[in-house]
Amino acid sequence: MTRLRTTAVHGGRDDLAELGVHAPPIDLSTTYPVPDQAEGGDALQALAEGAAHATSPVYSRLHNPTVARFENALAALELTEAAVAFGSGMAAVTAVVQAACVLTTKPHVVAVRPLYGGTDHLLSSGLLGVRTTYTTADDVAAAITPDTGLIVLETPANPNLDLIDIAHVVAQAGHVPVMVDNTFATPILQNPAPLGATYVLHSGTKYLGGHGDVLGGVVACAESEAKALRQVRIITGAVLHPLGGYLLHRGLATLPLRVEAAQRTATELAHRLSEHPAVTTVRHPSLTANPLLGTQLRGPGAMLAFTPTENPNAIVRRLRLITPAVSLGSVDTLVEHPAALTHRLVPAADRHASGVPDNLLRLSAGLEDVEDLWDDLDQALSGNSKPASTCDTDYIKSSSSQFRALSRSN
Ligand SMILES: *Cc1c(COP(=O)(O)O)cnc(C)c1O
Repeated sequence: MTRLRTTAVHGGRDDLAELGVHAPPIDLSTTYPVPDQAEGGDALQALAEGAAHATSPVYSRLHNPTVARFENALAALELTEAAVAFGSGMAAVTAVVQAACVLTTKPHVVAVRPLYGGTDHLLSSGLLGVRTTYTTADDVAAAITPDTGLIVLETPANPNLDLIDIAHVVAQAGHVPVMVDNTFATPILQNPAPLGATYVLHSGTKYLGGHGDVLGGVVACAESEAKALRQVRIITGAVLHPLGGYLLHRGLATLPLRVEAAQRTATELAHRLSEHPAVTTVRHPSLTANPLLGTQLRGPGAMLAFTPTENPNAIVRRLRLITPAVSLGSVDTLVEHPAALTHRLVPAADRHASGVPDNLLRLSAGLEDVEDLWDDLDQALSGNSKPASTCDTDYIKSSSSQFRALSRSN
């Protein structure tokens, strides 16, 4: 097996030499000729039962060679046997819940907060017929019941960068599969599978694609779990488009370099923000001594969060270079206000209890020159010397969920 950067560049490209091409072809076929219908039927049967490939893809909802190359490359980076790609990170989370809870009729999920707002909302919506108990990493064992089908955690957590000890949760899980959302860390900084995670999930939309132009999700796991995920993907149609598969695969080649560069920038910005008079707290794993840093998590990463003394919206409105937008892991630096946007649908009391204050801003460091980013942050933070007493976050108070009714009936 090759080393990380080599794997990132060469993973999933084994068949290219034989094809006589340098870049992976984008196979846009929706259907594939099956001159022998009996043979075609055998291929369809194999794929429908969850096989990774067959003598023919038959139909592109069943299999796509461009997407499969991305899956093979990601599995190599996550040190798993297989990976299964989906049309978005949320489609991937949905498929894991369907495979682990719905197919096995174990409709109870234990989830460690905070989680990405969309995942939190999905698990509490009742939409998939599961009930969710939210708990802390230390209390997972106590929350497990005989019908628990899945444990969900995210580390570093979105948006407050909490670190959770994966092996500690796995030790409490017994036979219950653990899903770790590895979107923030990327396989460059953290590999949950060797620590015992059953499913390693990524929103490929973020660092894997890395350029803010492709939506996708992927789950790295053992071949036995991958089979069930492929079956779910075929049944529900939550496939990744081959162009998305191509872009995500291309993104992997530069992933180590992008993560290392953005991490250096985030570390510098976190340090400077922690000394800025208009900032009360900064969260970045580089700022606190945590035994998980350097072991489970190989570097502090490129995401940080901070609480300004002033109204967060006023700060964001003054930014000139940094992009005010949700999402993360792009080449450009992004800032967003979780309570207003990504975590709006998480009930305020739950947000507060899981360590997400209303005035927290989240920053995804990009690849710009760090001094330009600092100039922008500093002018936005210092731009107005209005007293800090009025931290008006009223504009987030109207949060509502269209699935409230569903949650209640669950
Ligand atoms: C964005 C995100 C998701 C959801 O992914 P989509 O591609 O937007 O569906 C899940 N988990 C985390 C941590 C994310 O940041």
